Amino acid sequence: MIKVTRSAIPPTSLAARKSYAGDDVRDQLHADFLGKCYLCEGPIVRGSFEVEHRQPKGDGGGEFDWNNLFPACRTCNGARRRKHPPGGLLNPGEHHDLEQRIRQWMSKVGGQELPEFDTASPGDTQAENTARELQELHREKDQRSTDLCSAISRCLVEVRSKALEMYASYQQDGPNSVSYVQARAELRRMVSRKAPYTALVRYCVSDFPLVRVLFD
Ligand SMILES: [Zn+2]
Repeated sequence: MIKVTRSAIPPTSLAARKSYAGDDVRDQLHADFLGKCYLCEGPIVRGSFEVEHRQPKGDGGGEFDWNNLFPACRTCNGARRRKHPPGGLLNPGEHHDLEQRIRQWMSKVGGQELPEFDTASPGDTQAENTARELQELHREKDQRSTDLCSAISRCLVEVRSKALEMYASYQQDGPNSVSYVQARAELRRMVSRKAPYTALVRYCVSDFPLVRVLFD
């Protein structure tokens, strides 16, 4: 999960029609959340994601509250718990310190790298609840979790491979070479907030100084 900058003004149809299904609502959610599901960071297509209420409608959440609407892939929306936990959850559009409050990393489990989530500070209930939610969504041991973990792993392999290519170009051809500059530009796109799964991917490459400086 990454922080996002949500547009300050709600889309027109949300207030006017009291509907959250308007094209302007969906377009703005897609743009503000960088074309990704806010829970798993997988890419979402403009016409097919689901508009989710972070705080459920039946549990105190505002049905037409712009700050309570989020773009989620169908599988994440279906797998989420419907009850809002005591103490609440982090909101990526509101809590801009969430990347410091939740630790998101990959751990080796039985030869496989799997996502892990935890609070950075014990006692931070919102972060604890959010980390638990993310852990459950990624590690349910069902087919969708398996597919999600595989997609994250593939992404990691590609990023690491490109990082090695960039380092090799740097050492062999120098920092002004075309090969280094090209590899660096590609890697910058791959670790950008707009790319899939970057909250987790960044953790795995953050030890490489030439990669870390590319984080936006
Ligand atoms: Zn998702």
